[in-house]
Amino acid sequence: MSLKSQPIQPVPAQTAQVAHAAYVDGNPYLTLRDQLGSIFQDEDFTALFPRCGQPGWPPWRLASVLSEFRQRLLAGSAEELLLDQLLQQCGAVGLLKGRGHQRTDATHVLASVRVLNRLELVAETLRAVLNGLATVAPDWVQAVVPPEWYERYGKRIEDTRLPRDDDARLAYAQQVGEDGFALLAALTTPEAGVLGKLPLVETLRQVWHRHYEQLPAATTDSPSPVVQFRPKPLPRVECPESPYDPEARFRTKRDTQWTGYMVHLTETCDPSHPYLITQVHTTRATVHEARCTAPIQQALVDKGRSPHTHLVDAGYVDAELLVHSQEVHGIQLRGPTRPDSSWQTKAGGAFSVDQFEIDWEQQQVRCPRGKRSVSWSPRPRPAGGSPYIQVRFNLKDCRACKVREYCTRSVNQARILKLHPQPQGRALSEARQWYESEEGRNEYHRRAGIEGTISQGVRAFGLRKARYRGLAKTHLQQVATAAAMNIDRLFAWFEGYPRATTRTSRFAALAPV
Ligand code: SF4
Repeated sequence: MSLKSQPIQPVPAQTAQVAHAAYVDGNPYLTLRDQLGSIFQDEDFTALFPRCGQPGWPPWRLASVLSEFRQRLLAGSAEELLLDQLLQQCGAVGLLKGRGHQRTDATHVLASVRVLNRLELVAETLRAVLNGLATVAPDWVQAVVPPEWYERYGKRIEDTRLPRDDDARLAYAQQVGEDGFALLAALTTPEAGVLGKLPLVETLRQVWHRHYEQLPAATTDSPSPVVQFRPKPLPRVECPESPYDPEARFRTKRDTQWTGYMVHLTETCDPSHPYLITQVHTTRATVHEARCTAPIQQALVDKGRSPHTHLVDAGYVDAELLVHSQEVHGIQLRGPTRPDSSWQTKAGGAFSVDQFEIDWEQQQVRCPRGKRSVSWSPRPRPAGGSPYIQVRFNLKDCRACKVREYCTRSVNQARILKLHPQPQGRALSEARQWYESEEGRNEYHRRAGIEGTISQGVRAFGLRKARYRGLAKTHLQQVATAAAMNIDRLFAWFEGYPRATTRTSRFAALAPV
């Protein structure tokens, strides 16, 4: 179905008159149309449709076939259009300030799947794979599957229907494990063809690897390996928690545990302009905030919406990101830095890195006792870490040192320091000074408002719960949510509604001034 671009005609004067008469107290859509004109045009979406074919309905009239339009947006990687077009229009009428302040924070998003215990997970995964294979290769399934599997995996697996007794539960888990390995073996035979490469089968492999192991056969009479349900599963790392959304991940963050995703919202926060969400970044739940700073900034730069100052919490800041933001994008990344976690910073009187004198030119360090380091070794980026410089002191000096107990706990080694490379070290110390200064405190105070945005998104726009399955669709939902939140804010701005302030409880309001 093709899309023939047709310009959206202006609203006839009489229609506008009637509409305003019908909504005397104002209406967000009328206000936005009056202030911003048409935000979306057919031509914005033409590339998502084939060139030939029967003309279809334009997206703005597609309410009845939204799921089809959603698929088109995803297939054409055009989900960002929903937010971009609105922001572009805001920029054109001076509502979006370039190079101002922006702030970012994240919240967790629950995947649209049932939470499963271990037993449910393994059995339901096997059931989901059998259903998937039955859809694409029913004859192969009938030829391979033993009759008792129809009874075992024919219905949804629910804990209430599983055995109660511990031994019986373990026997059930073992049985499911053996069935799963048998299916995986059948999927490697030539008759299975490409079935073994289906994404669902990969999910089965990952789940089985985490929850089962195959031990060598106990006797020569039965050469098949013995399947064992691991008493403790392997660490979760990147293992699916449900066969129905294999991209959703489990994470614990402080007191919160969830299976799903993280959404990072970035918004403008200059009081002279409306606060508008400029960027939505969605990840699996296991992706740490520090890994999101660079892609968020890159996306803002690519769209021409990069801020001068980017306010974030400690999770988004590290020495490398401070330098990268400034040098590559000209963005000042502002936020508290994570403290040095070495024991010397916690024990009173101990020698932390700050108390050593660093001579960058000579590549040498002097300790608080005046001794000089004997080696200076730059370490390139270790796996998943940042580059650093390892500095060692002389073992003889340290052994003879009277204050050794304040410096190192190692019996056989001299003091070893890990230094950030000079630009990163300097950026870190400047960031700490800024954060502790009065100017820094006042400026950083603005970041707190993003928590109100997250709260608005969760309470009024359903941001916390994914409506669809998979990372791409969840992201699309969140981009659409951000666009809706912006529309709500623009309406409030045009109508002159004051911004909400942090609520004071009735009890707190009684406090003596
Ligand atoms: S232990 Fe070594 S590095 Fe530490 S203060 Fe003593 S001499 Fe200096």
